[in-house]
Amino acid sequence: MAPQLDGYFKQVDLMADSFISRLRSAVAIPSVSADPDLRPKVVAMANFLEAELKALGASVEKRLPGKQPGHPNLDLPPILLGRYGNDAKKRTILVYGHYDVQPALKEDGWATEPFDLTVDEQDRMYGRGSTDDKGPVLGWINAIEAHQKAGVEFPVNLLMCFEGMEEYGSEGLDDIIKEEASKFFKDAEAVCISDNYWLGTEKPCLTYGLRGCSYYSLTVSGPAQDLHSGVFGGTVTEPMTDLVRLLATLVDNKGKIQIPGLNELVAPLTDEEKELYNDISFEMSDLFHSLGSETSIHLNKEDTLMARWRYPTLSIHGIEGAYSAPGAKTVIPAKVIGKFSIRTVPNMEPDKVDELVFKFVGAEWKKLSSNNTMKCELQHSGNWWVASPKHWNFSAASKAVERVFGVKPDLTREGGSIPVTLTFEQATGKNVLLLPMGSSTDAAHSINEKLDKRNYVEGTKLLGAYLHYVAEEAQV
Ligand SMILES: [Zn+2]
Repeated sequence: MAPQLDGYFKQVDLMADSFISRLRSAVAIPSVSADPDLRPKVVAMANFLEAELKALGASVEKRLPGKQPGHPNLDLPPILLGRYGNDAKKRTILVYGHYDVQPALKEDGWATEPFDLTVDEQDRMYGRGSTDDKGPVLGWINAIEAHQKAGVEFPVNLLMCFEGMEEYGSEGLDDIIKEEASKFFKDAEAVCISDNYWLGTEKPCLTYGLRGCSYYSLTVSGPAQDLHSGVFGGTVTEPMTDLVRLLATLVDNKGKIQIPGLNELVAPLTDEEKELYNDISFEMSDLFHSLGSETSIHLNKEDTLMARWRYPTLSIHGIEGAYSAPGAKTVIPAKVIGKFSIRTVPNMEPDKVDELVFKFVGAEWKKLSSNNTMKCELQHSGNWWVASPKHWNFSAASKAVERVFGVKPDLTREGGSIPVTLTFEQATGKNVLLLPMGSSTDAAHSINEKLDKRNYVEGTKLLGAYLHYVAEEAQV
């Protein structure tokens, strides 16, 4: 039986203005996690959420992860653990969000004050954190409040985990998730994370996969100091020449990775998976819009999306120590560090990827027969994640999308990584769903970040509706 949601939906519409004021209050707190000077504001933001939750009758505990690594005098902000409802007859759902934001200064090119939520005539709400991730976090709080005001019983026990260091590598979070998996989170039957975006602007999506990332550095050094090319050019083996030649062996300009064995690690494309790509609402013009050019590698939607989501890619990011300033200085850099990363997909094991990378780079280096020295190192790696979109957690979310938006959601993966997804899955052993609120044009991390009023208000309905459907969905 479809859940009774009309009363709840009507209440959300009635309260839209008050939900926007709540977002305005939250955006006004510059909780920038990357800036140690603003740490008190991050803590203030945690206190704001705690007060909002407590006012609605939720219980809130704080976990203090300790000092920030590398900053012996700087406390990491608290991780908020909230619980709303404690009824053994109801399902328990764990939701995650973050209350810190990326840095933002008006001088960066914002059209409005970044920490002053500004709504334009098209109902776009501009402000840092509006979509990433204060809007979605407040969506859960709005959902609780609208249920109370409408007199509709809350369908599940809701566990909440809200952190304040997401934009700075989620320092301190993993240990707490692992520790609380058997404590605060022990009743959780499924996990929902609202911290990514629709693929476009019209159609909601459910996300079931993320790529991993293995990041490497390639250091080539020889001379003891930088040299003048007029004096030493032609007499010294130049590290930059070696490095550029080496980097060029990794990938061709059509994006094909040249490292033997790597593509063989990739899970083959099944017919069932291939089918999923036909329906996805995405046009090449969407890509061109995001690129600001028409310089795509692939010519059609399917190949483009598969290249982004389900195949590995290798990108060369930069060269440290190279002369990159404007002008025509005739320097021979003595030591240069090339940086590249591989976005990984099922079933690429990070250790195996490292092994193939080191072996290939070593062999290519040998071919150069250089008398410089070369070192290839892994900087960091995070694994990929794929969930089953057939799980009841996903079917409930899909029904909720259809109910609120009148369309079936796109089932998407993402090319980037949200490491906490995998941490939750591994620590709790439960299915994790990514249920985004914002759209592709929201410009998270960029200037003029915004959240459309429609996405916020209908998104609040969606989060509440999801909880109703998840309460009813049969275990499969
Ligand atoms: Zn985020």
